[in-house]
Amino acid sequence: MFIDPHIHVSSRTTDDYEAMQRAGIKAIIEPAFWLGQPRTKVGSFQDYFNSLVGWERFRASQFGIKHYCTIGLNSKEANNEALAEEVMELLPLYVGKEGVVAVGEIGYDDQTKAEDKYYRLQLDLAKEVNLPVMIHTPHRDKKRGTIKSMDVSEEHGLDPSMVVVDHNNEETVREVVDRGYWAAFTIYPHTKMGSERMVEIIRQYGAERIIVDSAADWGISDPLAVPKTAKLMKEKGIEDELIHLACYQNALTAYGHSGQMKESDWLNAEPIDQRKKLSGNTVLRGGQSPKVEGDSSSDIIEN
Ligand SMILES: [Zn+2]
Repeated sequence: MFIDPHIHVSSRTTDDYEAMQRAGIKAIIEPAFWLGQPRTKVGSFQDYFNSLVGWERFRASQFGIKHYCTIGLNSKEANNEALAEEVMELLPLYVGKEGVVAVGEIGYDDQTKAEDKYYRLQLDLAKEVNLPVMIHTPHRDKKRGTIKSMDVSEEHGLDPSMVVVDHNNEETVREVVDRGYWAAFTIYPHTKMGSERMVEIIRQYGAERIIVDSAADWGISDPLAVPKTAKLMKEKGIEDELIHLACYQNALTAYGHSGQMKESDWLNAEPIDQRKKLSGNTVLRGGQSPKVEGDSSSDIIEN
């Protein structure tokens, strides 16, 4: 069993969902993020948040995967202050919804003043509603941005055990783990931070506070990064218990603090039934026969 605690599945296909289910992914977390281009109206944030708690959650269920999400104003779009103000008013309406396991992904991109302002406001929101936080660390000047993310989080009184710092690398992991945070790693294909490097990190730091994710989105990324990394760890002789922590249990423990995510959600999940609809809409297209688990006449998805 695997959890991918950072994947933007709204931008992925149903083939991906089927492959993820076959590979043993039981649950996923979809963080609110930008769209590859800036939004221009608060309404497009609203519709996006609605899809994260609505349609996408339903769509995942039709492929046997439990979908959770995080809600937040991402750091890139924090730089449009007029829009950011409007989004901040929306957030309290969403953070309490079913399946919302954190405020995120928030933090720094270019490390501007506006990013800092909205990061701080959202830390206060997370604290107020007692939700974990998912921090996106910047790709440029990563080390400084990561340290600043933690400093500011502490300034706002957040308990490190409630905070997942994502997109780590070898330069940041030591301090993140030593300060008591969850250190998440995004495994992108054809990059420095691939599965091989992840194996070395587990060898060096153990898996007590380490989380593996794919961050797959509409860019070149891999929705099977978590199960593939787990397989490589196994081949390289990493103990099963460490693989279980990094690829399943730590994400569950960290985001389970929300009270919205429990193992029984997928262990006792209802069977897949693609005859179901959400507001009259289905994942089926003209003439397709629905997959129904436990019905031998249908094309069943099974483990
Ligand atoms: Zn992301």
